[in-house]
Amino acid sequence: MKLVLLGPPGAGKGTQAERIAERYSLAHVSTGEMLRAEIAFKTPLGLKAKLLIDEGELVPDEVINEMVKNRIKRDDCIVGYMLDGYPRTLAQAEALASFADIDRAICINVPAELIVERMASRMVCPKCKLSYSIHGEDTHCVECGTELIFREDDKPETVRHRLAVYEELTHPLVDFYRERGILSEIDGVGSVDEVAERIFDTLDGVRE
Ligand code: AMP
Repeated sequence: MKLVLLGPPGAGKGTQAERIAERYSLAHVSTGEMLRAEIAFKTPLGLKAKLLIDEGELVPDEVINEMVKNRIKRDDCIVGYMLDGYPRTLAQAEALASFADIDRAICINVPAELIVERMASRMVCPKCKLSYSIHGEDTHCVECGTELIFREDDKPETVRHRLAVYEELTHPLVDFYRERGILSEIDGVGSVDEVAERIFDTLDGVRE
């Protein structure tokens, strides 16, 4: 299966993409993670991308399209892949359609008030990249014990800008995939397990 995951920032795409990839043995391709790796290695692309990401802006379409086109040529993608955070613009969706046949686009819907609340409590593990919603005192990764950090682009003013960018540039993709008859909309309110079950129910139907 070749899947696309849509939804506003904070909808839980990364967490759900991980679950979906594991359940259906797909490669998890996250453009946000790929860019954060470029930043960590201080590559020329990473240095340019950091300036845009920290402001809540998108990285140029040509750069991202090239990155994904090359990534999905790798062996782990032969069985299928779960694209997380891509496409984010109509130009990206059109580019993707020119080099891949997507089976299904899943859109996770979450109301804006809940997103702002979720992002304020989101912390991530800098080592294993797991995302947490922090409400208590403990800010260590359950998997590896590393001290959790806030993402630079999760600051409230940046989150508001990212949501505006989502509405303007990414939300139109919902219609793009609906018109092609491959869109499934999922209610993203509830626990991680509840949302995952809704997605699995939909995808099990697609596979049959
Ligand atoms: P994410 O982890 O998916 O929220 O991505 C973090 C940031 O990376 C985004 O706010 C964008 O600045 C950038 N980014 C990730 N994916 C894309 C994409 N497909 N197109 C443009 N920018 C992207």
